[in-house]
Amino acid sequence: MSISVLPLVCDGVASLFRGQATRLSALIFHRVFPVQDPFYPSEVYAEKFDELLSILVRRFNVLPLGEAIALWRDGRLPPRALVITFDDGYADNFTVAYPILRKHGVEAAFFIASGYLDGGVMFNDLVIESLRRTQLDEIDLEWLGLGRVNIADLPRRRSVTNEVLLKVKYLSLQAREEALARLISETQVDRPVDLMMSSEQLRALRDGGMEIGGHTMNHPILAVLDDQAAENEVVLNRAHLTQILGEPPRFFAYPNGKPGVDYLARDVRIIRRAGYEAAFTTSRGSIGKESDRFELPRFTPWERTSTRFSLRLAQNFLHVNAQQLTPPVMGAI
Ligand SMILES: [Zn+2]
Repeated sequence: MSISVLPLVCDGVASLFRGQATRLSALIFHRVFPVQDPFYPSEVYAEKFDELLSILVRRFNVLPLGEAIALWRDGRLPPRALVITFDDGYADNFTVAYPILRKHGVEAAFFIASGYLDGGVMFNDLVIESLRRTQLDEIDLEWLGLGRVNIADLPRRRSVTNEVLLKVKYLSLQAREEALARLISETQVDRPVDLMMSSEQLRALRDGGMEIGGHTMNHPILAVLDDQAAENEVVLNRAHLTQILGEPPRFFAYPNGKPGVDYLARDVRIIRRAGYEAAFTTSRGSIGKESDRFELPRFTPWERTSTRFSLRLAQNFLHVNAQQLTPPVMGAI
């Protein structure tokens, strides 16, 4: 679908939103590549992000997160209210997305898995980057039960990457570390050290008016952790961000974020106790009076064609009862 159709579709979507003044849509982004990535052609890249933002700011009230939450709690949201959020803390959020956000006058929120700042890399990215960057056409993955694999062309490389991700995902933490070290050695690549933001970049984002939020230390599935480990992930992340920024983060996003699968009612209690004002899931839907302040739904704009994106945004907006584990606690502190 050509981009010229997008404004028309967006107008249609915006008209659906009329009379729904009290709802807020929250979008989730992860990486924003500088140019279209041949390994991930459907992922967001600078030009696409720029185009998307120029349309969103014309047709929606794109608000800073703190302001949007305050207005929602007071029942004073403007029509077509929308916030933009990023998860994890990728360096391209600073180098690529931030200048584009500034150009459009948008203040976004960034939820940071702070254990990976300053040179860290999440396990899934380590798998992806090793196989993406390797110069080899064939590698030995017999030790993962995948045999000797040909990765000479992109489709094969992508499918091997997915197979390795599936294998590695279900290993114990220690076995996973060993597998990742072996993969790095088999692919003969250097461990990436610049994939995530530095503390300095994070401070610069904050100083530029962006909201920085919590996302745990190590991006675990909170639901599978015992009580103490889950609490540590949240509390240490909050302390770490406080130390970097000189003030505690106000908002949190659950890693992966599916209610009952990735986080439990216990984790909602941990977030409230930790001192957060509100928290986000990845449940689909928009935020309204019925929403729980600690389980606010967000929408992942995976659809890369403009029309499908707009239609999905509309569907998401009209989906008013997002899945949540606990009853609403809008007014309570
Ligand atoms: Zn995440």
